[in-house]
Amino acid sequence: MGICGSDLHWWAEGGIGDAGLASPLVLGHEFAGTVVEGPLAGRRVAADPSIPCGACDRCREVSHNLCPTVRHAGHGATDGALGELMAWPDRCLFPVPAGMSATYPLAETAEAFRTAEARTGMKVIVTPDR
Ligand SMILES: [Zn+2]
Ligand SMILES: [Zn+2]
Repeated sequence: MGICGSDLHWWAEGGIGDAGLASPLVLGHEFAGTVVEGPLAGRRVAADPSIPCGACDRCREVSHNLCPTVRHAGHGATDGALGELMAWPDRCLFPVPAGMSATYPLAETAEAFRTAEARTGMKVIVTPDR
């Protein structure tokens, strides 16, 4: 479980950007863990913290991250992972291999590498955003 800068905005300001709180919210969108129920029960997984609709034109033809109705863990009306248990769709969970820690938010890292088009053997620089 990681705490992101956006979690701090929700905590300190009750929102981020145009999004604000309409009801109490469980924070946390950078998470991994062990599934307790469903087809992946018992598996350690990294989670995609976004739930796109999967049906709109942008989801089907462009990219899920452009879905106009995407929901994010720990954002707006969708509770996040800073609790003992949470419900999350199987399609947003990615089993991690045995021996790999599930405590690091793998989804964030994978997305950063995908966005940067980083490939094996490339040299990269990782810097803090603040
Ligand atoms: Zn984050
Ligand atoms: Zn969509």
